[in-house]
Amino acid sequence: MASVDILAIAAHRDDVEQTCGGTLLVMNARGWRTGILDLTRGESGTRGTAADREREANEAARILKVGHREALDLPDGNVQNTYENRLKIAGVLRRLRPRVVILPYWQGRHPDHYTTATLGYEACFVSGLAKVEIPGEQNPPHRPFKILYASLYADVRPTFVVDITAYAEERLQSLLAYRSQYASQAEGGKLFVPEEEIRERTLAEARHYGLLGGVKYAEPFVQKEVGLVEDLMLVPVQSI
Ligand SMILES: [Zn+2]
Repeated sequence: MASVDILAIAAHRDDVEQTCGGTLLVMNARGWRTGILDLTRGESGTRGTAADREREANEAARILKVGHREALDLPDGNVQNTYENRLKIAGVLRRLRPRVVILPYWQGRHPDHYTTATLGYEACFVSGLAKVEIPGEQNPPHRPFKILYASLYADVRPTFVVDITAYAEERLQSLLAYRSQYASQAEGGKLFVPEEEIRERTLAEARHYGLLGGVKYAEPFVQKEVGLVEDLMLVPVQSI
């Protein structure tokens, strides 16, 4: 049975690359098994086909060193929090059995993003219910221990940031693997920004969160629970 320690769930192929790809690289380097579940396949995108995006997503997964990546078939641009969709995600959770799930933040501009936050949370809940059977899935119930929200898209103060300084370039390359979306080209030019702009914007955002954490580049996260500290002498991030 395939399994992962940390599973990032996102609405669209390339969301994880933008919000927590560096963190997945850091976790891989620490020996954890990482995975990505994309809920849609990108068939509604202005540029490229779903097949283009699958090829690009696989290339990005290779750059991010994730051990497992798969996509569900929810409609791109119309991700809905339904019981059927919760069960689809729960089936993946029972199969991959992650301890940590990363979701998008629950507020934002794109409905698919904020809907994925609630849909993913409720899927984590239903996945742990012993009496809920999922059609076509034989694996026992599983509830992830920790749910974290990647908050890069949201205008919100993160609970913590992850230092991705050592992987900032690889993380950027994983995003640029989506050639159909980001390579400089004429079609959809008003909607999409050229590669140089992507590079500058991505590193500027990472630098902003890095400064908050006292490192060069970082990615932001929110957790709903309070933090628990064992040793005051080891709490990071300088106060003054
Ligand atoms: Zn997206």
